[in-house]
Amino acid sequence: MTRLIPISQPSITDLEIAYVTDAVKSGWVSSQGEYIEAFERSFADYCGTRYALSTANGTTALHLALVSYGVGVGDEVIVPDLTFVATANAVAYVNAKPVFVDVDPDTLCIDPYHVERAITVNTKAIIAVHLYGHPADMDALRTLAQQYNLHLIEDAAEAHGATYRGQRAGNLGDCAAFSFYGNKLITSGEGGMLTTNDEAFYQRAKYLRDHAMSPERRYWHTEVGYNYRMTNLQAALGVAQLKRIDDFLAKKRSIFEHYCAYLQNISKLRLNFVDPCSSSSYWMVCLQIDGYSESQRDHLMAFLKKRGIDSRPYFYPLSDLPMYAEYADRAIRTPVAHTVAAQGINLPSYFDLTNAEVDYICQTLVRYFVPAERGVALATPTLNAEILSLAG
Ligand SMILES: *Cc1c(COP(=O)(O)O)cnc(C)c1O
Repeated sequence: MTRLIPISQPSITDLEIAYVTDAVKSGWVSSQGEYIEAFERSFADYCGTRYALSTANGTTALHLALVSYGVGVGDEVIVPDLTFVATANAVAYVNAKPVFVDVDPDTLCIDPYHVERAITVNTKAIIAVHLYGHPADMDALRTLAQQYNLHLIEDAAEAHGATYRGQRAGNLGDCAAFSFYGNKLITSGEGGMLTTNDEAFYQRAKYLRDHAMSPERRYWHTEVGYNYRMTNLQAALGVAQLKRIDDFLAKKRSIFEHYCAYLQNISKLRLNFVDPCSSSSYWMVCLQIDGYSESQRDHLMAFLKKRGIDSRPYFYPLSDLPMYAEYADRAIRTPVAHTVAAQGINLPSYFDLTNAEVDYICQTLVRYFVPAERGVALATPTLNAEILSLAG
């Protein structure tokens, strides 16, 4: 085998190299500099929000949001059970209780029906995760947030450029946290952003991000703050990537459509769901196999790996993780999260993935799922020799 087709890899061009080089040469290597300002301004413009505050990573953006709203001991924050662990960790950092609720079987995002049932007098916030790039049902969540006076935080770490009723992710709640980790839609190496239209919240988050230092009196700190800043070097990479975001989104969509064309007629298989009022960022191509158990899924992943194709399982329900077992309220069960978590994998979908590689991945899946004679008829053999040699 010559190489493994990875799930994800960043696309770095001369533009990124030029900006990062410029940032290094300027001497502004820490958290002041032109690229920080440019990244924050252009990201806010892109999302359609008044403010964007850069942070060290997406997790710190989430943490900062909760601290800025004053969420703390004794408070509850409702989070989806199916998400990356950072969503709940941010809640744990402020010593509040994460309340895990079930997800919608189509969008895989937090289900407003279950959110409403989980609200108590202690509930302070809802974190809506746009999982794998698909927006959560924000209208229903906003209605609940208003009715019960809760903060509605978007975890948009996977949803740069996704839209819901014509509005971009980042502009759908009271604030939103983004991540620019290396495998996200755009990257700054590590990095994050908090977007909002609320000036007071923005000022509070900025203050806490910068060690809570008094703006009038240098080195006078009125409370325990944080150093959650992004560097100018990271921002330089981020600015270049943001300039290319339309190309990234278009490529993600075309890769997804390519997978669909090949696989949609195979019974048992389902790919990313897209609600008619939303557009996904297609951060990850999702393949779910109806009726599968975790061990069947692992067998499929091993089969793909042997043929040079990397894949990754869906996230585990967070209520199953050891440190959250104590919060896994037995009264609130999450059957959908548990069922889909075992049935789903993510397939390669990075910018430089070629059509021939997607063909090869699909062909391999067809071989796995469709009996030999039917497989030949179903699959269009457009594989080139180089790709075929991957199969070994
Ligand atoms: C990536 C991710 C985060 C965390 O972002 P980092 O930049 O890695 O800290 C948070 N939530 C979700 C849903 C993510 O996918």
